[in-house]
Amino acid sequence: MLQLHARFDSKWDSEPVVLRVTTDPHRDRNLRPVEAFLVGPESIELPSEFGSCLAIAPQPADWRFANGTPQIHILPESLAYLTDGDIVYLQPRSGELWVLYRRSSPSNSMLLTERCNSRCLMCSQPPKDSDDFHLIETYFRAIPLMDPATPELGITGGEPTLLGPHLLDLIRECKTHLPHTALHMLSNGRLLSYLSLCQELAEIDHPDLMIGIPLYSDIASKHDFVVQAQGAFDETMRGIMNLERCGLRVELRVVLHRATVDRLPSLARFIARNLPFVEHIALMGLEMMGYVRINLESLWIDPFDYQPSLLAAVRTLTQHRMNVSIYNHQLCTLDEELWPYARKSISDWKNEYLEVCDHCAIRDACGGFFSSAKLRHSAHIHPVSASPPWPELPVITEI
Ligand code: SF4
Repeated sequence: MLQLHARFDSKWDSEPVVLRVTTDPHRDRNLRPVEAFLVGPESIELPSEFGSCLAIAPQPADWRFANGTPQIHILPESLAYLTDGDIVYLQPRSGELWVLYRRSSPSNSMLLTERCNSRCLMCSQPPKDSDDFHLIETYFRAIPLMDPATPELGITGGEPTLLGPHLLDLIRECKTHLPHTALHMLSNGRLLSYLSLCQELAEIDHPDLMIGIPLYSDIASKHDFVVQAQGAFDETMRGIMNLERCGLRVELRVVLHRATVDRLPSLARFIARNLPFVEHIALMGLEMMGYVRINLESLWIDPFDYQPSLLAAVRTLTQHRMNVSIYNHQLCTLDEELWPYARKSISDWKNEYLEVCDHCAIRDACGGFFSSAKLRHSAHIHPVSASPPWPELPVITEI
């Protein structure tokens, strides 16, 4: 698992900063205050005027400092992957650094808040009721530093719509600085039941915005139970309808676990009949994080055991010409008829394989595991010996 956080060797009393990494000591002087110079093994003369200097341990100590060279912070080797165009957040008072954005990654997302108005049984990022406005402020500073060629950015939480007008401002900021970057926002859709919010979102006229909304059952009380919020199903359905009414694109997300798989074929029929306009439906395996760890015994079902339900749901959706994908599943646990729908969906920084996968002929086509799958994974993982008879599967980033 790639580390996105580290402690550096010192602390000092100063405001946090958002900086873009560069290895070029000759950067334009106007850019240097918002950049961190990453000291390379060949760097001896350290340049001045950068927002910070970062070095990966171990390093030689015979640097020559120019007048105005900022203090050097030594980072652990786990961050040796940092390179030009990546963006970091430095918190000097706690001596910590977070990697906010990796230029070469297809899996960048912006966690805008940890607050949420639901308490989903399987939430991988359990909500916190604290004032965390600094999170979105950080991204307001990071977005102008991102590469305009970034193909896709995720917006996630918590529940981003709780940020109201600030969320709208952030999407406007993305449109201004990253006009060619697709935005994918995860939302439980409940506040989108207010038509005015959807209308304001639509007025931004972002060129490539998709809203991913979870729907867990065709029965209101069952959906409400999964999200632990009475009335949530009605609000979410109204939100989905409002998005469609305003011309915004919708994806549905269904997380598969013991409380949802029994009605999966019925949910597929419900979606096909009532929500035929949704652009994509993602049927998703569990990530063993957050509340899943607490509720594991009541949520866990081996994916091998729900193949008949999954197959029936996919057949229903495809027969209605709907666009369906299976996320977060290993090919050897899926019925072969489902393989063409399986996507390599796990974010690169937390995507792993088991030792047994080294002997598998279809490893390259398989999405593998979340790093948290060490806690629990299917008992039916086995290497497959035949070569894949299907074309290379597209990578769709999980966010
Ligand atoms: S053995 Fe590993 S690589 Fe092969 S299909 Fe199963 S999980 Fe995927």
